[in-house]
Amino acid sequence: MGFLDIPLIARIRRNHGLEHATIHVLSERHDRLSMVGRSDWNGFTLYGTVDTDEVKFATEEALNRLRHGEAHWAVHPRCGTILATTGLMTGLAAFFAISMDSYDTRRFRWGTIPSAILAATVAAIFAQPIGLYLQEHFTTSGYPANLEIKRVSLQPNARMVLLFVICCLSFVVCHLSLVI
Ligand SMILES: [Zn+2]
Repeated sequence: MGFLDIPLIARIRRNHGLEHATIHVLSERHDRLSMVGRSDWNGFTLYGTVDTDEVKFATEEALNRLRHGEAHWAVHPRCGTILATTGLMTGLAAFFAISMDSYDTRRFRWGTIPSAILAATVAAIFAQPIGLYLQEHFTTSGYPANLEIKRVSLQPNARMVLLFVICCLSFVVCHLSLVI
């Protein structure tokens, strides 16, 4: 059994894929959708301004698409995986550019800044497709297996309204929370 097949990891990847697919469906129905998602082993949480019934519909539609083999919906261009990949790659690129350009490592030279910017920019360009690849193969799964939506609920508090969508894959529970 590989690392990605560990039940806890598989659950997170499936929930992450369903989260992305749900946001794709919501984006189709709302032109200016602004939403942030977060997945864990219990499910996923969405922060945004969307009606409860809309989220319920979108989650069911997303799951339906994934079940019919449309795994590409599990990948999203604005996922945190891409942000993390970009941050790591640009940071390392700038670090190495500065390291290689400095003959005296004890002193910082302003002259290394252009090469650091160039290196970071090139790294950022490559980070996008690499981040998408990492999503598709590691941080999400477009194959929901027997994942099911159990419940959608809204839980208001002082500053936000939480909408919970409960799904299950054996013991998987998905939570969706919306800020309104
Ligand atoms: Zn994501």
